[in-house]
Amino acid sequence: MAQVGFIGLGIMGKPMARNLVNAGYSLVVHDHKQGPMQELATEGAEMAQSCRQASEGCEVIITMLPDSADSEDAILGHHGVLEGAPAGSTIIDMSSINPLVSQKIAAEAAKHNVEMLDAPVSGGEPGAIAGTLAIMVGGNEEIFQKHEELLHVMGRSVVRVGEVGAGNVVKVANQMIVAANIEIIGEALTLSQKAGIDPKVVFDAIRGGLAGSNALEAKAPMMMERNFRPGFRIRLHQKDLNNAMATARDLGVPVPVTSLLQQVMGSLVNDGKGDLDHSAIVNFIEAMAHTEIRTQS
Ligand code: NAD
Repeated sequence: MAQVGFIGLGIMGKPMARNLVNAGYSLVVHDHKQGPMQELATEGAEMAQSCRQASEGCEVIITMLPDSADSEDAILGHHGVLEGAPAGSTIIDMSSINPLVSQKIAAEAAKHNVEMLDAPVSGGEPGAIAGTLAIMVGGNEEIFQKHEELLHVMGRSVVRVGEVGAGNVVKVANQMIVAANIEIIGEALTLSQKAGIDPKVVFDAIRGGLAGSNALEAKAPMMMERNFRPGFRIRLHQKDLNNAMATARDLGVPVPVTSLLQQVMGSLVNDGKGDLDHSAIVNFIEAMAHTEIRTQS
């Protein structure tokens, strides 16, 4: 099987890389942190000390990094992917970044005869561990088909949504919908709490109706149990909404709710909560309502 470079072994990247090793791919891994690299090395991966080294001799180089600047730095920077990636190889950037930056990176890669797909994911840490992510891919159809099998090791749903950058447009759309869902769940449960109704009772009463959703199932229990361990960090969701706003500005589309939510998340980051799970958005409403939701059961 093809040699694969894998850069960025955080909450998402580490289990995704592990699934590739378990599927028989020969993996070369790199992260700023030694810990996750060493962990994967004990499971059969090879460690590299730079993005360049992780890319040398690889047919595919996957990046799973926090934001646009990180992808740019890892791929275009000094000792970066493009210094090591062989001509004819493909970079698959699975980070959630600004779609315009994906297009810029792809244009630079093309100068080195390196292909590029942007392939952000949805499904969180549980989906990364189970290999059931939803993967939204932008890029050339032929290149997509060439790597579809590899992407299916990490994701259950792998869909090409357009040319390079389209994957991240779909991802920002996804993040707008998720942010609005979680915030309104927080508002509704806080209101119920203040009215003296156990939020668990509310959850059980409404989950089977139209208000039921994956967001409700995943995040309401975390709010009620006061478990804000990430999961998906507020600062990363704020970043996604920044990317949504930049895209909206570029296209001249008004996004009033997204703008409000971006500010709510900014306030939580300023309040020292950026590394909590995004279910902690409820803390913003609770602070204003002078209450805290908590189940009696
Ligand atoms: P994370 O912060 O847990 O991990 C990022 C990793 O990248 C870290 O280990 C960091 O050391 C490493 N890193 C950063 N810059 C680097 C560089 N230049 N070279 C080498 N390593 C570098 O983030 P995460 O939660 O794994 O998220 C990664 C991406 O996936 C983000 O774009 C995020 O928005 C997206 N995403 C996350 C989730 C989730 O639930 N966590 C879900 C869907 C999508």
